[in-house]
Amino acid sequence: MAKHDQLHRFIFAGHSVRGEVVSASETFHQILENHDYPQAVKKLLGELLVATSLLTATLKFDGDITVQIQGDGPVKLAVINGNNQQQMRGVARIDGPVVEGSSLKQMMGNGYMVITITPTKGERYQGVVALDGDTVADCIDNYFRQSEQLPTRLFIRSCDVDGQPAVGGMLLQVLPAADDESHEMFDHLVQLTATIKGEELCTLDVQEILHRLYHEEDVTLYDPQSIEFRCTCSRERCESTLISLPDEDVNQILQEDGKIDIECEFCGSHYIFLESDVKGLKRDINQQLH
Ligand SMILES: [Zn+2]
Repeated sequence: MAKHDQLHRFIFAGHSVRGEVVSASETFHQILENHDYPQAVKKLLGELLVATSLLTATLKFDGDITVQIQGDGPVKLAVINGNNQQQMRGVARIDGPVVEGSSLKQMMGNGYMVITITPTKGERYQGVVALDGDTVADCIDNYFRQSEQLPTRLFIRSCDVDGQPAVGGMLLQVLPAADDESHEMFDHLVQLTATIKGEELCTLDVQEILHRLYHEEDVTLYDPQSIEFRCTCSRERCESTLISLPDEDVNQILQEDGKIDIECEFCGSHYIFLESDVKGLKRDINQQLH
């Protein structure tokens, strides 16, 4: 049976290396709900979900991370957004046939990955990396290498559990205080971690996973964090979008449709604005200005 969605952090006592284990199959199913994505796109979103979950768990402040892939292939965009409370959402935009078993390159064409880190307080950081890896994990490994951050490796797996798609992953990262010995140890631990299978990640207890991989090591495991699907859309956010649009565009839609219907592409929620709502919004803005 697939496990409930959780993220565990752990540390190797004696080596300055930390790690994370994540399983996110339930959240994955919810992200796919209400969408009819081709198989290869589902897999891609699953990989992005695991990557985003692993990355947000490295944040040392409140905030969120968006991992986005854009390209000129049949898949124009695949994106997952998640925050440090492990609330995740995501969507893909497709314009053209996606053949089953398509590779990342075949789906995205010429493209790049954008990683955006948005602290709740503070400045936004954005990193861009070419799509020159075969997998999402390869691209993010390249991103860490290029941005000269702490040595970090991601391991992302997908599989079927009881006929349902399941996803999970792991992350290893060298701690800032690491010496040469810890860096060597990191390479050794990376080799061990690379042997993890999707089925193990998605069905076994985390203690069992850590024991299978690192039975010679002294590993300290911390309390888990739950992962869930949660969309951050709201009527207030739609209002600020509406206000930023040109009056003539808004008026034209109102005249043609009698209302403005904003659909959230992440969760499918509809936010309806009538002419009176729009007038009220404009009035509030004018009052604030004068
Ligand atoms: Zn939404």
